[in-house]
Amino acid sequence: MIYLDHNATTPVRPEVVEAMLPFLRQEYGNPSSVYFLGQKARRAVESSREAVADLIGAKDSQEIVFASCGSEANAMAVFGAAYGRNHGRPHFVTSAVEHPSVLKAFEILQRRGMEVGFAGADPFGKVSPREVESLTQERTVLVSVMHANNEVGTIEPVEEIAEICRARGVLFHTDAVQSAGKIPIQAEDWGLDLLSLSGHKLNAPKGIGALYVRRGVSLEPLIPGKQEKNRRGGTQNVAAIVGLGEACRLAKKELAGHHQKLLKLRRALERGILKKVKGARLNGDPEGRLPNTAHFSFESLEGHNLVVALDLQGLCVSGGPACSSGAPEPSHVLKAMGVPDSFIRGSVRFSLGWGSTEEEIERALEVVPQAVEQLRQAGVA
Ligand code: PLP
Repeated sequence: MIYLDHNATTPVRPEVVEAMLPFLRQEYGNPSSVYFLGQKARRAVESSREAVADLIGAKDSQEIVFASCGSEANAMAVFGAAYGRNHGRPHFVTSAVEHPSVLKAFEILQRRGMEVGFAGADPFGKVSPREVESLTQERTVLVSVMHANNEVGTIEPVEEIAEICRARGVLFHTDAVQSAGKIPIQAEDWGLDLLSLSGHKLNAPKGIGALYVRRGVSLEPLIPGKQEKNRRGGTQNVAAIVGLGEACRLAKKELAGHHQKLLKLRRALERGILKKVKGARLNGDPEGRLPNTAHFSFESLEGHNLVVALDLQGLCVSGGPACSSGAPEPSHVLKAMGVPDSFIRGSVRFSLGWGSTEEEIERALEVVPQAVEQLRQAGVA
């Protein structure tokens, strides 16, 4: 099997499994308990909190709140900001290329009578800070623009947007689920207020995420309770938190080397596909893009059919948005970028990760052009 779908999920690294095991076996204490077993769990949770803070450049580990996944962290930011405002009709700004967990949260707010402005994207998938600025109003309480796009990998100008928000006294949230662990993040220096990340996108297990909440920012909790300093109730998932912490430590240590390696592999893949497959177009920003993400549109081809054909050859790639693969729908991201419908249908995303090798890319470059050719010849493209 060749796994090139790391934006959907990643394998859990062996070091992460090792770090977690004691907390699934003998160290089963509740971090809120006062006796030694609980305190051991609490220390492990706090050490992970520091590792997460360190990875994203937070100043204080207490700015990290653990959640069950990236989607929950996004919901905590959007609903938490909305429900914390009791007077007036709050207004929000987001972009058309956000992950569904963000877009659907804003749809709910709209159904409850709140107003949301949507910034578009340019043909590379980039959101314009000027457009975000023009959409903000006196009543705007939160702007949410993702750090890196899950489909095409485009990196958004979050530092600039954060500056605009700061100047206007508006909270700024970024969904960094796809960027955390892949490219550097400086939450404090960039002036971010809220940032979401997810364990399973950076070689930790599924079912764990975190929200960075800048000191002094207050959100209405989605799950009331005393844990996480009253910000997210529910007994912490200690083993998963320990796994996330270990994954963050490894990611931080290896970030620069990993980035170079992925970039080299991704470029080889891109060059090969563009050379060997007729009617292939590479989507996303040519420069400001995640080092692991190569998103193609193939003319006269159904992306879903290619994903199935590649699966038969042992190659795992994605034909649609990460979390809704299997239910191919026209991508809202490609639509917002103005990609023609005929190309949107033939979209396939390759996302590399920890463990991806040159041999795998070479093999992919044999298999993909053959599969495209066969589908086109068979007329089931
Ligand atoms: N945000 C982005 C950009 C994502 O790519 C994803 C998952 O694909 C999520 C949020 C949701 O993360 P989780 O699966 O942890 O809920």
